[in-house]
Amino acid sequence: MNIVLLGIQGSGKGTLVQDLSNHLDFSLVSVGALLREEIATGSELGKLIKSKTDKGELVDIKIVIETVNKKLSQNRKPIVIFDGFPRSKEQADELDKICNVDLAIYLDLKKEDAIKRIMNRLTCSKCGNITTRVKCPDLICPICNGKLTVRSDDTPEAVNKRFEQYELETYPLIKRYKERGVLVEIDASKTPDEVLKAVMKVIK
Ligand code: AMP
Repeated sequence: MNIVLLGIQGSGKGTLVQDLSNHLDFSLVSVGALLREEIATGSELGKLIKSKTDKGELVDIKIVIETVNKKLSQNRKPIVIFDGFPRSKEQADELDKICNVDLAIYLDLKKEDAIKRIMNRLTCSKCGNITTRVKCPDLICPICNGKLTVRSDDTPEAVNKRFEQYELETYPLIKRYKERGVLVEIDASKTPDEVLKAVMKVIK
């Protein structure tokens, strides 16, 4: 089963996959996280990727597809969840060549709420755990004691650019999957637990 997660930045895609992993065995293709891993290696490719992500721009499709294929070639499980991919019609066309999309989960959240969440968001620099300033004001990761940091692309300029890109290129994909009859809309303004329950009902 191949599942695509769609939703504006801050709608809770990362938190959802984190929570789902406690209930479901799946391969996760989280393109943003994979790109950040490449950046962390300090490679030339990582530097190129960072020059795009820091501005909130989309990374070149060729790099994205290579990243997706590399991840899929490693121990692919019967359930695959794509997070943050596809993000454009071009990418959705490429995904159709890679596999059949069985389910597209759209985490529906208003832009104003997404901005509030992004401003509160913290990510562990060691294990990648996503949390908030409210939950962890001491900036220590409750899972691994690593340092919690603000993502380097969570600046107001980069966030605005990502919203623009989302509205223009990613949002139209909702119609594409709706027309295919594979789209499920989830109210992402609910608590992470409620969102998790709603998604589990759809997957099982
Ligand atoms: P995310 O972690 O999903 O918020 O992604 C962080 C950044 O990684 C985005 O702002 C883009 O610069 C880049 N990125 C993530 N997924 C993609 C994708 N499917 N295509 C192109 N760039 C991406």
